[in-house]
Amino acid sequence: MVSLQIRTSARSQMVNITAQVADAIRASGLSDGAVLVSVPHTTAGITINENADPDVVHDILAALERCVPWQDPTYRHLEGNSAAHVKASLVGHSAMVPVRNGRMALGTWQALYLCEFDGPRTRNVAVTILKPD
Ligand code: ZN
Repeated sequence: MVSLQIRTSARSQMVNITAQVADAIRASGLSDGAVLVSVPHTTAGITINENADPDVVHDILAALERCVPWQDPTYRHLEGNSAAHVKASLVGHSAMVPVRNGRMALGTWQALYLCEFDGPRTRNVAVTILKPD
């Protein structure tokens, strides 16, 4: 397993980590198998989505904010970041991607994103190489 450190710069942000994960796969020498990309955090997540039009990332973050506003008088969690926890659970904490011929089998328009919901912080992303016997 490789641990990537990703510095985020905003409270909510999607950081394209596709290149770093591809580097970790290359360094592992994996040809065919899969990679599990996960975060050991409760206020950040991992997702796969559009890599070409930055407005898509903007719209995803805006839609999540409309669904789960930062302020809500019904929140009980004393740390004050309940929205970040809810968004992290909605997005999920991991993604698994098949690897063929040493490359992730992603579509042309797909990228792997670290989703920050309570930044800025330095986040850890675990890249676990899954190699069939
Ligand atoms: Zn909290």
